Amino acid sequence: MSTLQSTFTSGHRHFLASLFPGDALVLDTASLTAFATDASRKSAMPWAVVRPESTQQVSELLRWAQAEGVPIYPRARGTNKVGAVVPVQGGIVVSTLRMDRIIDIDSGDFVAEVEPGVVTSHLAEAAAAKNMFYPPDPASVKSSTVGGNVATCAGGLKAVKYGVTRDYVLGLTAVLPGGAVVSFGSRCHKDVVGLDLARLFVGSAGTLGIVTRLVLKLLPLPEARASVLAAFSSPEEAVAAAQSVFRAGILPTACEFMDSSAMGALSRLFDAEWLHGAGGAILLQVDGISPAVDAEIASIKEVLQTSAPVYLMAGQGAEEEQAWEMRRQLSQAGYQLGPDKLPEDVAVPRGRLLEAVAGFRAISAEQRVPVIIFGHLGDGNLHVNTMHDASDVAMATRAATCRAAIVDLALSLGGTASGEHGLGLSKREHLTKQISPAELALMRQVKAVFDPQGIMNPGKEW
Ligand SMILES: Cc1cc2nc3c(=O)[nH]c(=O)nc-3n(C[C@H](O)[C@H](O)[C@H](O)COP(=O)(O)OP(=O)(O)OC[C@H]3O[C@@H](n4cnc5c(N)ncnc54)[C@H](O)[C@@H]3O)c2cc1C
Repeated sequence: MSTLQSTFTSGHRHFLASLFPGDALVLDTASLTAFATDASRKSAMPWAVVRPESTQQVSELLRWAQAEGVPIYPRARGTNKVGAVVPVQGGIVVSTLRMDRIIDIDSGDFVAEVEPGVVTSHLAEAAAAKNMFYPPDPASVKSSTVGGNVATCAGGLKAVKYGVTRDYVLGLTAVLPGGAVVSFGSRCHKDVVGLDLARLFVGSAGTLGIVTRLVLKLLPLPEARASVLAAFSSPEEAVAAAQSVFRAGILPTACEFMDSSAMGALSRLFDAEWLHGAGGAILLQVDGISPAVDAEIASIKEVLQTSAPVYLMAGQGAEEEQAWEMRRQLSQAGYQLGPDKLPEDVAVPRGRLLEAVAGFRAISAEQRVPVIIFGHLGDGNLHVNTMHDASDVAMATRAATCRAAIVDLALSLGGTASGEHGLGLSKREHLTKQISPAELALMRQVKAVFDPQGIMNPGKEW
């Protein structure tokens, strides 16, 4: 790959002003600062931000950027937690937020066609208005975009039953470095002709091109849903109880877990009986037609009773919503245990969850730093956040050791360093722990086919 430009010239400025008139081009320092960072809190200043409204504009931008060797950083709502949109090599941030049209929601094809800047909950609501269902629901569903979700292959609470964003991408249009506009896939729910290049873009984190249009699969909207909350004496008992639900032949829509540290953090914010005195809890949801939901809830309660829960509640409506709201607050609640966080989102094969949870807790005890463990038990994907005070040098060192040991343990159990967030900028150090040199070489060859100059999101992922 050739060397990228390291300075912003008056020629660059002139070109951008002609392609992006008015406030579609951002150059003032105060405004640029807002585009320097994302939910990772990492930061680097871009040279400029552009706000395209059409595929054609993106095409002209990338034709110019490739010719000039200008770094390009695609950005949607900046909710990623790994510095994926931080412009570490300067260059141009390309905001997709003015490409936010829902083009079509088709109840015949069960397909939605959208631009990438559509907020995910807006798509879900528009589909629901037509009695259809777009299942991917990251906890950031009300703020992140469909394009960002596709570029990160976002998972959500319902992934146990419905899968992740990848499972809903039928096709897409992307602009490649050099300006070529390519469309992959179709409106067909099944299509096996050729390599699946649409899904190659899923999870590619802005490293291959800029997605400007998406064709997404929809499902019928489930009629009803209900949840079960159960607390147990120890986290290991909570994990084992959840596993017994699956063994009984029940597939929940969501299956979430929290350990005693996570519950302790929540108890400082919420007043709920089940948060006190238990070692771990699980929160499950089922959906479908009403009689099936009632029957599944009864079966789950019956199975869980055999694991001797210290608390068991089945509910719908306000009670259910309160439990899920607490779950959504867990990441923030961790700050009750320390002002700084080293967040990991490891995943392990589901059969290794007991070892993983016990191991993470042992690492926390050994390093004397609080770790909260919670998340998507049904997918084997756990958030393991090391809370600490970074101004305490000794504690910060132990926290870093703790974080590395957590990832190493997950990998030793056959797991992955990231089940959801990707490596971005802040977790790149995990890359070669997991990906072999041969695999990395192949990935880099693929990248070079799409982006020979290396202008797309340089300094990230792989
Ligand atoms: C409170 C909170 C809860 C969260 N919960 C979850 C969760 O449950 N599951 C989960 O998976 N993640 C979760 N996340 C992380 C984050 O929301 C996801 O990674 C999300 O998909 C990012 O979407 P975004 O629109 O903010 O994209 P951004 O953060 O702006 O961008 C993310 C990546 O996508 C690339 N990109 C964006 N648009 C395009 C495009 N059009 N073409 C090419 N590349 C593009 C960017 O370059 C970047 O690499 C959470 C984050 C927060 C803050």
